[in-house]
Amino acid sequence: MHEMSIAVSIVDIAVKTAQEAEAQKINAITVELGALAGVVPEALEFCFEAACKETIAEGAKLELIHLPALAKCTSCGFEFETDQFLNVCPECKAQVLAAGGQELQVKSINVD
Ligand SMILES: [Zn+2]
Repeated sequence: MHEMSIAVSIVDIAVKTAQEAEAQKINAITVELGALAGVVPEALEFCFEAACKETIAEGAKLELIHLPALAKCTSCGFEFETDQFLNVCPECKAQVLAAGGQELQVKSINVD
């Protein structure tokens, strides 16, 4: 369950950022999550709650921004959204690798 280590590092980053801003409490953490990041959102949310315990982020809300991955066909140039690494181009049926979609980063935090 690697979501736990991901959740811990998200909370770590947020707590450090909040402390630098001399904030007392974190209300919400916004995280960008790519379609190919290999993270189950429900599992991440569950682990996030646990990771926030006994930190200034306790009770904070996790807001996920879901980013789609784009695939561009090398054969015909057709671009499309996907949630898989390997795709078949809907236009010409060539095999295509997705670009991007692996984002997993803290976008912003809401503090008091
Ligand atoms: Zn194509």
